[in-house]
Amino acid sequence: MIDLLGAPVARSLNDATRERVARLALEGREAKLFIVRVGGDESDAAYLRGISRAAEATGVGVELAELEPNVPEGELEGLLLDLSADPGVSGILLLRPLPAGLDERRAAACIAPGKDVDAMGDRSLAALFAGERAPFAPATAKAVMELLDYYGYALRGRVGCVLGRSTVVGRPLQALLTAADATVTLCHSKTSGIAEICRRSEFVIACVGVPGFLTPEMVGDGAWVVDVGVNVTPEGGLVGDVDPAVAEVAGALTPVPGGVGAVTAATLISQVARAAERSMREEGNHG
Ligand code: NAP
Repeated sequence: MIDLLGAPVARSLNDATRERVARLALEGREAKLFIVRVGGDESDAAYLRGISRAAEATGVGVELAELEPNVPEGELEGLLLDLSADPGVSGILLLRPLPAGLDERRAAACIAPGKDVDAMGDRSLAALFAGERAPFAPATAKAVMELLDYYGYALRGRVGCVLGRSTVVGRPLQALLTAADATVTLCHSKTSGIAEICRRSEFVIACVGVPGFLTPEMVGDGAWVVDVGVNVTPEGGLVGDVDPAVAEVAGALTPVPGGVGAVTAATLISQVARAAERSMREEGNHG
C-alpha cells in the first residue's frame, strides 16, 4: 500500500512557488496574502500555522486582520472591498465558517475575483463548475488534486466517488476530477447504497466530517483512498473520515494528520503567487 504523505507534496509545491516568487521579485513585485479572521475560532490555528510555514518557505508575504465575532457586517464588507482595491494585496483569504449572523456569500462577493485565492465567491465557483480554466479553486479541493498528481495517479478514464457535497470541498472536487477526465459520483447524507458505490470505485475521496466513516468493507481491492476529514476526538487528537483498517485493502491511502491537510496551505500559497502573476500580466496588457 502506498502511504500518500502530504509533506513531500507540500515541499514540491513550495519549491515551485519560491521560484515564481523570486521571478516576481525581479519585476519588483511582491506576492502577498491578506487573511481575515472573524472571531478567532481555535480550529483555524493549525491552518494558520501551516500558512505561515508555507509563506516563510516561499517568500510570500502574509498579513492577518483579526475581527471581533460581533463585527458589523458593513465593517467586514468594507474591509474586504478595501483589500480588493489595494494594489499591495495579491490574494485575500476569509477564514470560514463565519460566526452566526454574518452572511458568508455576501462577504465573499466583496472579494475581487482576481484575489479570491480560496475560490469562495460565486464568480470563482461558476468558472470552476463551467469547466473553464479557472484561476483558483478552493485550496482543500485543489490540494487533493495536487496530491494525486504528485503520486502519479492518472485520473483520465477512472471511475470514483466523492463523499460529501459541500461547496468548500466535495462539489469543487467533483468539478476538478471531472475536468481531469475522471467519472465521479458525488455522495451525501441522502445517498442510498453508498457502500456499494464506494466498493466499485477505483478511487474514493472522503470529506464527510464523520470519524471512521469509510470502513474496509466499503473499499474495493487496490482502490486509492484520500481522507480529507479532520475530526477532533474527545481526547483532543485528530482523526480522519477513513477507518485506518482501510489500509489493509486500499492500494494507497492518505494519513490523518499528515495527508491532505499538509498540502492545503502550500496549495493556497501557490495560488497567491498565481494571483500576483495574473495581476502583473493584466497591468501589462492595460499599460
Ligand atoms: P460539511 O460542510 O459539514 O459537509 C459534509 C458533507 O458530508 C455534506 O455534504 C453531508 O451531506 C455529507 N455527510 C455527512 N454525514 C454523512 C453520512 N453519514 N453519509 C454520507 N454523507 C454524509 O463539511 P466540509 O466543510 O465539507 O468538511 C468535510 C470534512 O473535511 C471535515 O472533516 C472537515 O474538517 C474536513 N476539512 C479538511 C480540510 C483540510 O484541509 N484537510 C479543509 C476543510 C475541511 P449533506 O449535504 O446531505 O448534509
